[in-house]
Amino acid sequence: MHSRRPQAIIDLNALSHNYQQVKQLAPDSKVLAVLKANAYGHGMLAVAQALKHADALGVARIDEALALRAGGITKPIVLLEGFFHADELQQVVASNLQLVIHHREQAEALLAAVLDAPVRVWLKIDSGMHRLGIYPHEFAGLHQRLQQSPNVQGPMRLMTHFASSDELQNPATLKQLQLFQQTLQGAPGELSLANSGAVLNWPQSHADWVRPGLMLYGVSPMAELYGADHQLQPVMTLCSSVIAVRDVSAGDAVGYGGSWIAAHNTRLAVVAMGYGDGYPRGAGNNADVLINGKRHPIVGRVSMDMITVDIGTAPVVVGDKVILWGADLPVEELARRVDTIPYELLCNITSRVQFSYI
Ligand code: PLP
Repeated sequence: MHSRRPQAIIDLNALSHNYQQVKQLAPDSKVLAVLKANAYGHGMLAVAQALKHADALGVARIDEALALRAGGITKPIVLLEGFFHADELQQVVASNLQLVIHHREQAEALLAAVLDAPVRVWLKIDSGMHRLGIYPHEFAGLHQRLQQSPNVQGPMRLMTHFASSDELQNPATLKQLQLFQQTLQGAPGELSLANSGAVLNWPQSHADWVRPGLMLYGVSPMAELYGADHQLQPVMTLCSSVIAVRDVSAGDAVGYGGSWIAAHNTRLAVVAMGYGDGYPRGAGNNADVLINGKRHPIVGRVSMDMITVDIGTAPVVVGDKVILWGADLPVEELARRVDTIPYELLCNITSRVQFSYI
C-alpha cells in the first residue's frame, strides 16, 4: 500500500517528452527552460537535472538561482527579474548568472558597478504588456551604453514578453512582435520572445531563444485546451488516499457549514487532501477525483486536510488511491472549475505534499 500522505509523483520521462515537443515546434531555437517558483511546483532541482538538453534555465529571483548552483547545476541560469540591489551583482558574477535588465534604474546600477567580470545581459523591452521592460524610446540609448560597458559581456540578448500569446484570435501578439522588431532596428544580438503560448501558436516569434514554462510540465496555457491536445504529457500526478469510508443518510449535511446535503442514502470517502496541501478550496461541491480509475464528485467543503467524496455504491475501501489531477483528470479541468489557471494550482502545492520522481 502506498503512503497515506498526499503525494506529487513527478514523471521525468514526461518532462523529457515535453521538452522534445518544444524542440519539434521550434527546431531552430535554443531553449531557455523556465523553472521559477520551484519549477511551477514540480521541484526545481530535479527538473533542472532532468532537462539535460536545455540551453539555459530561467528563474525569477536570485535565491532560486543560488539554490540551483548549490545543487550542482552548472548550466547558464537567467534571472528573469534581474537584480534589485547593487550588492547582488557580486553574487551574480560569483555564481555566473545572467541578468535580465528591464528598467532604466537597473541599467544605470549595472553601468555604475565595479565588477570582477562582465555579465551576460538580456535587455528586455516592453512591447505592450506594460509590466516589465524598458520603454521602446529608451532602447537605442540604453542599448548603446550597455553594449559599450565593460560590465556587459558580448552582444546582449534582446527580449520581450507576450501578454496574450495563449489567445489565437487576439491581435495583441502580432502587435507586440511588430513593435519589438521596430524598436530593435536590426540591433545585433540573439532575440527571445516566445513563452509556451507563443511556442505553440506563433511560430513567427520563435527567434533565437524560446522560453517555455508551462508546456514543459505538460499543461496547456490555452483556456479551452489540454496538454494532450498539443501532444504533451502531464508531469505531475497529485494523489492521496482514502482515510475513511462512511455511510450517510438522505438529508445528512456534510462538512463545514453543511454545504452539501445527501439527496439519498449514500457512502462517502474521506480523502487526505485539503487546502493545507495546496488543493483549492473552490473545488468543494465543484470538482471530481478519480478513485480506482473512476470519477467521483467532491461533496461538501474542502477542509484543511481532507475532502469528502460521494462514492455511491463503488467498492472503495480505506487505503485506496485517489488522483486529484494527472493524466486522466487534467489539472486544466480543475483550474476551469475553480476559476483559476493551472499555473496557480501547480505553484500552490505545499511542502506537506511528499514528492517522488519516476
Ligand atoms: N518568459 C518569461 C519572462 C516569463 O516570465 C515566463 C513566465 O511567466 C515565461 C517565459 C514562461 O511562460 P509560460 O509558463 O507561459 O511558458
